[in-house]
Order: sequence, then structure tokens, then C-alpha cells
Amino acid sequence: MSLFSNEIIALKQKALEQARPLFDKIDEISAQNTAKVLAAFRKHQVSEYLFRTTTGYGYGDSGRERLENVWADLCGAEKALVRTQFVSGTHALACVLFGILRPGDELLAVTGTPYDTMQTVVGHAVHTPGSLKECGVSYQEIPMTQDGVDIDAIAGYIKSNTKMVLIQRSRGYSLRKPLSISDIKKVCAEIKKHKPDCICFVDNCYGEFVDTAEPTAVGADIMAGSLIKNPGGGIAPSGGYIAGKEELVNMAAYRLTAPGLGGELGATLADIRLLYQGLFLAPHVVAQAVKGATFAAVLFNNLGYKTVPQPDELRSDIIQAIELGSPEKMIAFCQGLQQYSPVDAHVHPVPGPMPGYVDQVIMAGGTFIQGSSIELSADGPLRPPYIVYLQGGLTFEHAMLGILGAASAITGQ
Ligand SMILES: *Cc1c(COP(=O)(O)O)cnc(C)c1O
Repeated sequence: MSLFSNEIIALKQKALEQARPLFDKIDEISAQNTAKVLAAFRKHQVSEYLFRTTTGYGYGDSGRERLENVWADLCGAEKALVRTQFVSGTHALACVLFGILRPGDELLAVTGTPYDTMQTVVGHAVHTPGSLKECGVSYQEIPMTQDGVDIDAIAGYIKSNTKMVLIQRSRGYSLRKPLSISDIKKVCAEIKKHKPDCICFVDNCYGEFVDTAEPTAVGADIMAGSLIKNPGGGIAPSGGYIAGKEELVNMAAYRLTAPGLGGELGATLADIRLLYQGLFLAPHVVAQAVKGATFAAVLFNNLGYKTVPQPDELRSDIIQAIELGSPEKMIAFCQGLQQYSPVDAHVHPVPGPMPGYVDQVIMAGGTFIQGSSIELSADGPLRPPYIVYLQGGLTFEHAMLGILGAASAITGQ
């Protein structure tokens, strides 16, 4: 039985042939990262007895402590927090900002306007009670150029009270390029050159395991991300992480719990095996998602659409942007993809209003874990030039079928 028309099958075969040589590099990164994970598990003697829940304060929770030591090692960091008590990536990122910044300090974003949910945390463009602005932290941002971070502009923005620089690795909902690990290294070096005590903070969401090193291994002081994206491997049920210099991670931990308590508390209520197993699977799962993104870039390029990144460009996050050019095509793309979801395949996505967005937003993604975007998903605000952002896929096979479903819905074939 053929699921797709002969036209779509022909498109698939052609795209697979073109994409295959690009897959070799992705497999190589996955193999190197898997080796790193195994080495860290071996070093820290990960054992089955660690996979248990704890209660109450959660003092001396060895499963939690061991996992955090493993993740710190993988990040080239001194210390890490890996917790389901972080409700999302934004929460982990906010703990870093509020844990470290004090009234009178300035935060400088060098990658332009931050991700949507970070704008309410910062509170300078959007008024939000409890934001950094309300706490007396000032804010500046340097717009990105065509080539990436405006390195030459940095010196002019750094002031005596610039306590922290925010570097967002991924593109988010924009067409700008993600920062590669070597870009992040250069930006951190430039900042330290002008102000050695300025803290380099990386929003690492969507970037984990796309390359063979993480930002804290190349000069970033601290970073944070979500466990329902890359490092949870599609298995972690919820949570976020912070990794970096010990002193800074402790300050963030005092914000997560309370000053004086920090990371010593926090019972493991969820099955922590899921976090270990998710981390073990993450390099492979991220590779599946990157292959899906690459396949989508090739196929939609062949159909005449602009894709960012282009199929053979260096990737530093799992997002594939496709410029579709009309609201009808965005809706068709999302509806076609949704039909090939393992969960809610019968649901018909339609555009709707979303808090924090001016335009209506459409979202597709039938995921096992609510809102998980390491699972295959697509979304975007309905505004010109009508770009859909595609990401995730626990298996390449699924990503491919979803993408073919979207192509079929768009072309009517
Ligand atoms: C996903 C993401 C976040 C955090 O989002 P949550 O939905 O709160 O996990 C922050 N920054 C970027 C770039 C992201 O992609």
C-alpha cells in the first residue's frame, strides 16, 4: 500500500539521494556525542540503584547529584542543575538572570531581540510585573547583522555596570542564523577582552548535541536550556537545566529554591531513570531531528521554496525555517504534518491568537509530551513572508513521513 501519490514518492526519492551525503556528517557527530555520554556515565558509575524517587527535602539525593555531575562534565562545566522543578526552559533561563543580576546592573543582549518568552522576563519592550526592569536591571541589545553578531559594536556597548551578556544560540522565530560553537567562542573572547568580569550567558535551547561541544566548554560562563527539547532525548517528562561556573550556578540555585538552600534540596518525584535514559538517547535523537530538518530543506528547495538554513549549511540548532509565501500554504503545511503525528493525528490545526503575539499563530505537533519540540512539530506566526518553523522528530522515518504529508497538502498531490 502506498501512502503517497507517485509524484510525492518521486520527490522523496530525489530528496533522499541528495540528502544522503549530508547525513554522514550528522551520524559522525551523533557517534562522537554518544561516546562522550558513555564516557561520562562510566566515569560517574551510573547504576540502576540511582533510578529511584526521593521524598521531602531531597537531601543527599544521589540519583540527582550523579546526573548533575554527568551533565556538568558533558558541558565542560564545573557544576550543573538538572531538575524537573524547572517548569520550562524560560524558567531555567530566568533563574540565571534573577539569581545573578542586581539593581543597577545592566544586561546586554548581543544577539538582537531575544526569544519571545524571554522578552516578558526582561520586561523592557513589554511591561511585565516582576520583570528584570521592575527590579532595576537596565537592558540594551545589539541588533544582529547579515553575518551574525556585530562583533565590532560590542566594545561600544559595554559599560562599567554591564554585568552580563546574553547570547542566544538558536534562531528562535527569526530567519537569522544560529550561532555556531566557534561563533560563541569568538563572542565570549571579545567580551572578556573588554571586560574580563562580564558574565557570558548562553541561551542554549535547541543547540545541545547539534555539535560536539557545548558553549560552556568554549568560554561561556553559564548556560541554560529545556529538557523537553534536545537534552531530554524525547524521554524526559519535564524540566530544565543550568550549567556553568560553580559560583554562578549556586546563585541561580538560590533563586530556584531559596537563598541559603540552593541545589542541596529538591526531591526527585518523577522517575529519574527517564532523565538518564533521555540523556543517553539525546545524541541520536538530535541527529534524527537534524536529518529531518536537512531532508525538509532539500525537498522544499526542490519545490522552489526558500529554506533557512540551506541544505548543506552548517547547523547549530535543530530548526528548519521554510518560507511558504502565503497563509493558505502555512495552514496546509501544518495540517498535512499533523496527519502523520503519533498523537492527535485526527486533529485539524487552525490559526489562533496566542498570548504575547500580535499575529495569529498556527501550530502542528501531536506529541507524547505536551509541547515537546524535540518531537516533530511545526509552527509560526501568520505574517508575511509566511514562514513555517519545523523542528524535532524522534525518528527520521517519522520526520520524513510528516514532511511528505506537509508537501502533499501544499502541492495537492
Ligand atoms: C524554547 C526556547 C526557550 C524557552 O522556551 P520554553 O518553552 O520556556 O522551554 C528560550 N529560548 C529559545 C531560543 C528557545 O528556543
